[in-house]
Amino acid sequence: MNLKVLITEEEIKQRLKALGKEISEDFNGETVIAVCILKGAFMFTADLIREMKTEVTVEFMRIKSYDGMTKRQDKLLYDIENEIKGKNVLIIDDILDTGGSLKFATTELKKREPAKIKTCVLLEKEREKDFKADFVGFKIPDKFVVGYGLDVNELYRDLPYIAVVEND
Ligand code: 5GP
Ligand code: MG
Repeated sequence: MNLKVLITEEEIKQRLKALGKEISEDFNGETVIAVCILKGAFMFTADLIREMKTEVTVEFMRIKSYDGMTKRQDKLLYDIENEIKGKNVLIIDDILDTGGSLKFATTELKKREPAKIKTCVLLEKEREKDFKADFVGFKIPDKFVVGYGLDVNELYRDLPYIAVVEND
């Protein structure tokens, strides 16, 4: 398997500085509950919250998607531990592909009546999707990528950059 660098470590660092500032301003400097979608968003979350200028608390959520008989099903595998009612929430995911996972996470958390809920993804694939994120790090072509939290069979999450997988 060949890996071709798409976004370098330096480019990620630079983008996160701007993103952290933009998000902090959007929340008017108020405390934010960062909800990291496991596993892919763990590295992005760790770096992004260090660029935020607001007070931050961190929660983790895990969603499992599988193809059912007629349509895709999403299931909550691991839920956040604290209440979000009346609070500011930022859902952080690694990549927006079909949009199914983020839509599911947002619908689920909205039921708990947060004061404000926003979504942030590091990457967004240029394709048709049924969800729009409020904050996007980078728009990328519709290719399979790994690194910086994203895996293939659990490997390559540790890479400090984003790479495209080329099968040859
Ligand atoms: P969606 O629900 O938007 O279709 O898919 C989002 C999830 O699918 C991501 O959180 C990620 O786990 C996985 N995914 C989608 N595209 C890619 C990709 O190019 N590479 C990797 N490693 N995972 C992906
Ligand atoms: Mg994921």
